[in-house]
Amino acid sequence: MKTKFGHMPCRDCGKVVVVRANEHETLSYTCDECNDSGYCRKGQENYATWLGRITRVAPAAKPTPAADPPRKKAAGGTII
Ligand SMILES: [Zn+2]
Repeated sequence: MKTKFGHMPCRDCGKVVVVRANEHETLSYTCDECNDSGYCRKGQENYATWLGRITRVAPAAKPTPAADPPRKKAAGGTII
């Protein structure tokens, strides 16, 4: 299963593409614009280069505790 890893500019056209990582930490992407694709296995020489180009997606953040819901204002009765 591939998980979203980050973003980087396409090698070919420069459009920012989504980089995914599989369970072996192999990085891969496919560019929708120019149909370029590529991958990089962990341990390859250019792996560090990939990491340097990729803007990492923040790991799934814990949900922030919900702030107190805004209190409803008491409906003001209209005095006739
Ligand atoms: Zn491209």
